[in-house]
Amino acid sequence: MLDELRPPHVPKAVIRAFAEAFYGISGDLTPMEGERDLNHRIGHGEGGGFILKLCQPAEGVAIPECQAAALEHIASVDPSLPVPRLVRARDGSMLSSLSHGGIDYPVMVLEWLEGRVLGTGTLRAPRLFELGSMLARLGLALRGFVSGAPAQRELVWDTSRVSHLAPYISCLDPQDQDMANRILAFHAGVTAPAMRKMRSQIIHGDIHPYNVLIQADGQVSGLIDFGDMVHGPLILDLANAASDFLSPDQKVEETITALVKGYHSVIPLEETEADALVDLIQVRLLMTPLIDALKRAHGISPQGYFEGFNGRSLPMIRALEQFGIERLRSIIRRAAAFPAQPSRHPATLGDAIARRRRVMGEKLYVFYDPPLHIIKGEGVWLTASDGRRYLDCYNNVPHVGHCHPYVTAAIARQAGILCTNTRYITDQSVEYAERLVQLAGDDLTAVVFVNSGSEANDLAWRMAKAFTGSTGGLAMDFAYHGVSEAIDAFSPSNSPGHWNAPHVRLLPPPDTYRGPYGSEQKDAGQRYAALADPLIDDLFQKGFGLAAAMIDSAFMTNGMLDAPAWYLAGIVQKVQAAGGLFIADEVQSGFGRMGSAFWGHSHHKVKPDFITIGKPAGNGHPIGAVITRPDILSHFLSFGPFFSTFGGNNVSCAAGLAVLDVIRDEELVDNAYHCGNYLREGLRDLMDRHAIIGDVRGVGLATGVELVKDRANKNPAASETARLLSLLRDEGVLIGSEGKFANILKIRPPIVFTRDHADLAVAAVDRALARL
Ligand code: PMP
Repeated sequence: MLDELRPPHVPKAVIRAFAEAFYGISGDLTPMEGERDLNHRIGHGEGGGFILKLCQPAEGVAIPECQAAALEHIASVDPSLPVPRLVRARDGSMLSSLSHGGIDYPVMVLEWLEGRVLGTGTLRAPRLFELGSMLARLGLALRGFVSGAPAQRELVWDTSRVSHLAPYISCLDPQDQDMANRILAFHAGVTAPAMRKMRSQIIHGDIHPYNVLIQADGQVSGLIDFGDMVHGPLILDLANAASDFLSPDQKVEETITALVKGYHSVIPLEETEADALVDLIQVRLLMTPLIDALKRAHGISPQGYFEGFNGRSLPMIRALEQFGIERLRSIIRRAAAFPAQPSRHPATLGDAIARRRRVMGEKLYVFYDPPLHIIKGEGVWLTASDGRRYLDCYNNVPHVGHCHPYVTAAIARQAGILCTNTRYITDQSVEYAERLVQLAGDDLTAVVFVNSGSEANDLAWRMAKAFTGSTGGLAMDFAYHGVSEAIDAFSPSNSPGHWNAPHVRLLPPPDTYRGPYGSEQKDAGQRYAALADPLIDDLFQKGFGLAAAMIDSAFMTNGMLDAPAWYLAGIVQKVQAAGGLFIADEVQSGFGRMGSAFWGHSHHKVKPDFITIGKPAGNGHPIGAVITRPDILSHFLSFGPFFSTFGGNNVSCAAGLAVLDVIRDEELVDNAYHCGNYLREGLRDLMDRHAIIGDVRGVGLATGVELVKDRANKNPAASETARLLSLLRDEGVLIGSEGKFANILKIRPPIVFTRDHADLAVAAVDRALARL
């Protein structure tokens, strides 16, 4: 590894004679600088001629062979890329061999490339852009080049091997040692692991101003010296260049922006590459003084331009630190067209809470004490800022899994094409409406887009009143349907004990565990449904009539009730017989949540007049819609136009379409059915060990576990439930609570939940209950 740091010594006369004999070239020999090879220009007068490289024999022949083959490969892939052309020997071979003093030196001859070495000169922004794009072209040209040699090479200058230089930190001035340790520690902990997943290939490995040629007008005219080719992350060529083209007195922002933009214009950077660039620049800068120390430790005196580099490296690192590493990272992200990231890691959770309080109000409505600071979601997992992963058994908005790559790609793609409103004809909104109509079936063939579940319910309620001419409504006791004033009337859970809506009557929930009729009663469904009769009569008596009943088929706020057969059918039949309409609020129960069918109302075998959707439809992207009969919509529009600015925008619809694709392609409705049953079996098994579990119920992936102080009198175990949620958080499992008494565990995960996840959740509930 160290012999390679000394160039060979061979007399000029020997080289001259060899060039004539083996290549048929002659002329004056001018020595040129090289760290490991002995290089001469051979030519007459100014300009033109050849370079003869006598390669470092300690490295063997594989590397020069690879270098020669790479140059021929580049010439064939991107002929106009200004890199040296290989000159083959008279016998047609790419390399020849010169014997001198008992040593065989591999020899390579290249055509002279016009231009002068940039050296200590600087480049202005447009030229840096040019250089960046040239580096990317070089990366593309080498992409298909295969050779084993660079991967096996142990090169001190290879950034991937920087950890080998750590022992030389002690040779730096004491005030620089802390900085160097910090840079290498960050690199080892963050960037080095990321590099293992980056695009990698054979790269140039040594782009700096002495390997860049420019013309008289300042244009970049060549990239030379392929002697340091390694197999490594593609981004290293850009990082190496940036480290040496930055200078403490030149504008950092301008330099880095131009280089990155130029590169990005040919090869779009990946986000991990963009985020690693600052660190790779710092590491490259640090390598120079460390290699200097290594050389000195082995008695090799530094030569030529290396000294210049060495003198500027540490000041440049300091200049970058002063400039701001995070600031530089954001500049690079911007240049590579990645959106700015919020500053993600306040020093402590306390800081994060205080920061939110300052701008989002003192009264934090957040789960858990202390709250969770979540920074990433993936599938059924959420990651907190302390690095801990939590199994998400609670969130139904990321229906097909947090940040499902198919959905995020659809959103990103559409955001780059068009995002406008439904007052134009746009393909995405029409296609999404068609898909929804197809899923809704029967005569529900009209779709109106809004932005949330609340808006969808609000609009459906307005349409129902307009169509029926009545103003009375029916809702489930303790239901939730949204935030608007009109829908607050259908959401008694918003204001327990204070609910007051004279025009709405509340149905007693069909709760076979706690209510008057148990599941053992064959006609429990009919009996619960019959409780609607006096309420409907009362609405008519008070002059409201009945415009609509609004019901969530999953009975989520009531604690995931598994309503008895015929209950909902009975209610719908009574409502429609009274001239009212049925609004199936599918915000919770739709999109396969219930496992047995795509829609919750289909699970109950009823036909609604409205389907309202929200939450899961966009997997986190806001979407709301009302799907109804065309006659109901036409009647509503006869009073005036309806338009929702963001409703049905192209990006939301692209998200919605992608969610539907994923549900179909990954067979998630079926998954919700089987996985939900499996989960409940596991939870029911816990009843033998934990008397606090009074009931386990639910449908598909909507599961309720009702906790009671004792099974005989069913006293709700509310405070125990609250403590259990916190113990479950300690177990790394996120579960919520529901019900009038807040004593029901709500297990409602993304429907990509698997049996393995169910096992984890059940085991955690078991352990947490044991600790309770
Ligand atoms: N309906 C039901 C059944 C819901 O659960 C919710 C939200 N939890 C809504 C409507 C309101 O949806 P949004 O929050 O999107 O307005």
